[in-house]
Amino acid sequence: MIFKTDLDYRKQSLLKLLITVQKQEQNIIKALHDDFKKPSFEAVFTETDYILAELKHTIKNMNKWAKPQWVLPSLLNFPSTDYLYKEPYGKILIIAPWNYPYQLTLAPLIAAVASGNQVTVKPSELTPNTSKIIAEIIRETFDKNHVECIEGGTEVAQTLLAQRWDYIFFTGSVAVGKIVAKAAAEHLTPVTLELGGKNPCIIEQSANLKLTAKRIVWGKFLNAGQTCIAPDYLLVHQSIKTKLIAFLKEEIILAYGENPETSTDFARIINEKNWKRLLAILENQTVLIGGQSNAEDYYLAPTILDNPSLESLVMREEIFGPILPILSYESEPDLERIITKFEKPLSLYVFTEHNTFAKKIISKYTFGGGCINDTMIHFANKRLPFGGVGHSGIGAYHGKLSFDLFSHQKAIVKKANWLDIPIRYAPYRGKLNTIKKLLKWFS
Ligand code: NAD
Repeated sequence: MIFKTDLDYRKQSLLKLLITVQKQEQNIIKALHDDFKKPSFEAVFTETDYILAELKHTIKNMNKWAKPQWVLPSLLNFPSTDYLYKEPYGKILIIAPWNYPYQLTLAPLIAAVASGNQVTVKPSELTPNTSKIIAEIIRETFDKNHVECIEGGTEVAQTLLAQRWDYIFFTGSVAVGKIVAKAAAEHLTPVTLELGGKNPCIIEQSANLKLTAKRIVWGKFLNAGQTCIAPDYLLVHQSIKTKLIAFLKEEIILAYGENPETSTDFARIINEKNWKRLLAILENQTVLIGGQSNAEDYYLAPTILDNPSLESLVMREEIFGPILPILSYESEPDLERIITKFEKPLSLYVFTEHNTFAKKIISKYTFGGGCINDTMIHFANKRLPFGGVGHSGIGAYHGKLSFDLFSHQKAIVKKANWLDIPIRYAPYRGKLNTIKKLLKWFS
């Protein structure tokens, strides 16, 4: 028997969760600050308020989402009524990363509970203060046999992955995503992998450059660039590069002041290992702005690099920090040569006033999702699926899609008995032409 909770119990659990997360909001904001000086505005905007909205939306809509869904029957089955019945998968494992540690643990958890599953979550060990509060919230809200939180690092994750689950939801790096996929294959467990990649951001000649620079600076330096959908590198048309750089410099100063180290609106790098990795990326590069660092709290200034070689470290891997390389292009084949050098990205952004150019880019390249004339905001629409493709991930979630993700959908045809068309039954002799005609009409 699979684990299954009834709708009323799921709803009561989520209402209890709502009370707990509201009570713990200030503790979460403080923990995020203690973990990597996440600005309180960003903590509310991208973590606590996001989760409150997701929770309220789920509580409000879950009865509707859980109902059997009628679908148009096939005329070949006439007369019938056809439905999708949603049932929970059973035991769900959620493994979360550190960069939005609260949101990326709680959002899948809310959906998995709403769909009636039993859930185990493992938050990241790199944000221990936030993980501790998440564990407290879960302990305070749920019965241990329904939802539990297991804290710990790689070994704990590996012990969990060695067990059999009915569904695994993983958010993190491509390298660990492959480990998760291999472990899941052992038991043929379905997975969602929310991974990363190098997200291109194209700026074409017609773009409104001041606004473009503002939106790029926001998307790149929020969370100190430690965002899976942050623009990873810019591809700007050669003719507007100098102008764009001037606007980018201006916008960085407007957002974080002359010395971003003293700004309370700029987060820190998560740990020494990542800070050193980012400093190594900067070696032998042309720094146009930024580059300053401080080992005391793993500070790295918002930094822009000019024209790095495609073979350099910064262009070889996902940056995941406040470093923005600017490359230029002259023609569309230049764009293609650079973009297709990398695996399919999680996001792609294009800034242009020309609709045809935007449409061409969107249809030509494969990527998880993206924006025209902005960065990252596609994440905020509950009606849009959020997820990658190829190396940037498998599956997508958010809003109702998250409920469906954690539900197995049983396809059921209820056949009526008042009519029984005999054509499909043996003996078949003399029926082939009629069935061919019927198939042709109904296809
Ligand atoms: P990570 O892959 O190092 O860790 C993620 C989780 O996996 C953690 O809970 C960690 O304890 C666990 N883990 C680490 N090594 C493991 C191993 N060998 N075996 C089993 N489990 C292991 O990722 P991270 O550093 O926490 O996060 C950064 C990465 O996550 C970036 O690549 C980023 O793009 C990606 N990311 C993707 C999304 C998305 O929604 N697509 C969101 C946030 C982050």
